[in-house]
Amino acid sequence: MLSKVRVRFAPSPTGYLHVGGARTALFNYLFAKHLGGQFILRIEDTDQERSTDNALRMQIEDLQWLGLKWDEGPNPKTLEDQGPHGPYRQSRRLPVYKQVADELIAAGKAYYCFLTEAELDQQRELAKAAGKTMHVASPYEDWTIAQAMARLQSGEKAVVRFKTRNLKRDFVFTDLVRGEIKFPSDMVGDFVLLRSDGMPVYNFCCVVDDHKMEISHVLRAEEHLPNTLRQLMIYEGMGWAPPQFGHLSLILDEDRQKLSKRNGATSCHEFKEEGYLPDALKNFVALLGWSHPDEKEIMSMQDMISAFDLQRINSAGAVFDAVKLKWMNSVHLRAHSNSEIWEMLVPFLQRAHLELPQDPVWQDKTVTVFRTAMETLVDAVELYRPLSDKSFLLQPEADEVYAWESTKAVIGQWRDLVAAETTDYLNEEVFLRIQDQIKEKTGAKGKFLFQAVRVAVIGKPHGSELKMLVPLISKKSLLLRAEIALAKK
Ligand code: GLU
Repeated sequence: MLSKVRVRFAPSPTGYLHVGGARTALFNYLFAKHLGGQFILRIEDTDQERSTDNALRMQIEDLQWLGLKWDEGPNPKTLEDQGPHGPYRQSRRLPVYKQVADELIAAGKAYYCFLTEAELDQQRELAKAAGKTMHVASPYEDWTIAQAMARLQSGEKAVVRFKTRNLKRDFVFTDLVRGEIKFPSDMVGDFVLLRSDGMPVYNFCCVVDDHKMEISHVLRAEEHLPNTLRQLMIYEGMGWAPPQFGHLSLILDEDRQKLSKRNGATSCHEFKEEGYLPDALKNFVALLGWSHPDEKEIMSMQDMISAFDLQRINSAGAVFDAVKLKWMNSVHLRAHSNSEIWEMLVPFLQRAHLELPQDPVWQDKTVTVFRTAMETLVDAVELYRPLSDKSFLLQPEADEVYAWESTKAVIGQWRDLVAAETTDYLNEEVFLRIQDQIKEKTGAKGKFLFQAVRVAVIGKPHGSELKMLVPLISKKSLLLRAEIALAKK
């Protein structure tokens, strides 16, 4: 085993980072940081059509939002390679793969194969009829390099295939998560390393890169487990020591199906837009298949780094519990100071076009009132909306209140009593006193009093408690709103 711990996250970027990818990245990161190792970001972009720079930027944006910093890989701003083992984008490493393929060919461990699609189809049909899995039988596996070269020079195309003939035995390895895994001898036939256009396939690039980048441990999704056999064969073919592999279980929805779009947000970007904090998402994702030795639920990054170990990774599927994520988010949110929370809320409030006072004292006061009512940052929008003058509109539900004879008198008293106050804001006590005074003067009580005042403050008869809201709205705004409410025909 290599003494240095070096792990990698190797996305094939096609868009924002999925929660499954985030978990893979996080586990690799935690494992490396726990052991003082390095975390490398490698981009598996050989599918050039899907893996655009834009898609890469999306992944990078999400990884950065999560705060998972890589020691080597593309620079987050320029995307240029940073580190001694670059390039870190597979599309820029084609000569490296070509060279390894040539070495395997020279050693008789791989060969140029000229089988056509039609010939392969025929083999497939025959295997199917015999009820067997098709393993390519290539007449080219023992061709000399000179023979193959001659044919290539005549312009014919060939793939490079890995020769498995001498590897027909069980492959056994110890998975860091699943324990001993045995692949039967006849599971794969000769497989492609380079396509006829020279593009390498995933299994090949992965081995070459993991070796050249000195990766010691590979933690990746369970779906790659079958690939590990081909990868182990290539390691053996090259005489390279393989890294240690660990395959992480699937993330399931509440019906124990693979988590997908239909379950709502699944990418980090969406969680960010929905007002989740990166610390909360990381905390939640860390517990998808791992647990803290003291069963701690709420963890900081430092807690996770200190406690992370592979023994506590569970090999069973992990269920994504959206309710738990929300709860965790509220706990992380409340751990912040008022001013930090305000800073986090600003983009959400701006996006909703709310116009709110710039005054830090006011901001602090509102966060004190609302902080326990929010689970996500998005929740702030509806909490703050009644405080924005721009959002004040008399709603259709208010009509019922206007139908009562006493309403205009109540609102008129409300306006006059507010106007008589000398402070910029009314506190709760003053508000309650004013309500009592209106009652005395107009004789209105119960809903005739409360709902009419509410219409004058928020434009509708139902909503948040006024004694909480009124102290957050300036006297000036209260008067402005009362005038609008009074002016209604
Ligand atoms: N590019 C592969 C993926 O995104 C990574 C496989 C691996 O980690 O070996 O699934």
